[in-house]
Amino acid sequence: MAKEHVSPVWSRTFPLTISHGEGCYIYDTDGRRYLDFTSGIGVTNTGHCHPKVVAAAQAQVGKIIHAQVNNYYHLPLLALTDALLTIVPDKSFDCFFLTNSGAEAIEGAIKLARHATKKPNIITFQGGFHGRTNLTMATDTGSTIYRAGYSPLASGVYITPFPYAYRYGWDPETTSQWCLKELRHMLHTQTAPFETAAVLIEPVQGEGGYVVPPVSFMKGLRTLCDEFGLLLIADEVQSGFGRTGKFFAVEHFGVTPDIIVMAKGLASGFPLAGLISRRDLMEKWTPGSHGGTYGGNAVACAAAVATIEVLKDGVVENAARMGKVLTAGLKKIQQKYPVMGDVRGLGLMVGVEFTTPDGNPGSDISNEVKKFCLDNNLLLLQCGTYHQVVRWIPPLVVNKEQIETALDIFEKAVASAV
Ligand code: PLP
Repeated sequence: MAKEHVSPVWSRTFPLTISHGEGCYIYDTDGRRYLDFTSGIGVTNTGHCHPKVVAAAQAQVGKIIHAQVNNYYHLPLLALTDALLTIVPDKSFDCFFLTNSGAEAIEGAIKLARHATKKPNIITFQGGFHGRTNLTMATDTGSTIYRAGYSPLASGVYITPFPYAYRYGWDPETTSQWCLKELRHMLHTQTAPFETAAVLIEPVQGEGGYVVPPVSFMKGLRTLCDEFGLLLIADEVQSGFGRTGKFFAVEHFGVTPDIIVMAKGLASGFPLAGLISRRDLMEKWTPGSHGGTYGGNAVACAAAVATIEVLKDGVVENAARMGKVLTAGLKKIQQKYPVMGDVRGLGLMVGVEFTTPDGNPGSDISNEVKKFCLDNNLLLLQCGTYHQVVRWIPPLVVNKEQIETALDIFEKAVASAV
């Protein structure tokens, strides 16, 4: 097992080699058990190796693995479109496209928006992250690590401020109104509505720091898109599939986008991603102008159908309930430790932003907290430009006892870091 043959471009958060996983736990090759509150970066929402997902994938492997979707339909694909119809946040969503990764799905959404509107430009948000392919790199503004050294980046991408109230130091409403004003200003100064296809947003900003926009912002954004004839694309790659206590985060805001991008939690770890939209829009996408060999893979689709069944069986509600337990627990710890500058999130997508006493991003504290937790068998990831945010994304099947165990370790970690 020569690790030097694995490309170093894969940065690695934990010095572990994993042998297996079950539910909220993973086990390393030394037999040590960890409470995995990373969910493989928000993927294993049903827990590691949920028996129903495993059984569905195993059964499908014996029937057909690859039934290429440009050649023919296959049964798990049709079963998945049926299952998706039962969870879409609005009846208008009746057409689906499948691909392999989140970045590919975002590329697909932008290509669909361009074909459907015949307009070239996209507006997206400061601090956003949408993937690591050539086009998506141009939308990544949470950190230069995603783009530095790769210029020239794809053109036609414009960046407007995201309502990150804590960073600006303003109240949410002031931030919301200012950001909407800046977006309107952009349409008069940088990209005119007649050349702007869509606005692309994460309804809860993920890699940028687990930032929840105010409801007024999301509603104002929808109104603005309608006023100027722009499509609204919601990137629910990280926030979707029950993560926020609803199937899709947009449901918290009462806003219906034109396209929803899904990935990660969709198939519990099988590489499957896709677009949810309306047939009238999809019909404007020239057949054959987008696709891919593996999109809609039969085994991944079967796993996704099982994933949706599991999530519908009380797991999304559990995420909402456990999210409340988690946030209340974190806010209680925050009262003792002012370095925990902000505790925010929806459901089980929660961030703790550390801030130093002189008001700077608390990267060192965040790093130490993560390390202490690792040493005590709890895996937590970070996010935010300066890694100053510790993010909480346990599997949605997590129980109260596991959350309390994690909070206990976390509190000790913060105490030892300050
Ligand atoms: N969009 C969001 C919001 C993400 O969080 C990610 C990955 O973390 C992506 C897109 C890219 O997904 P993938 O890594 O599957 O390409």
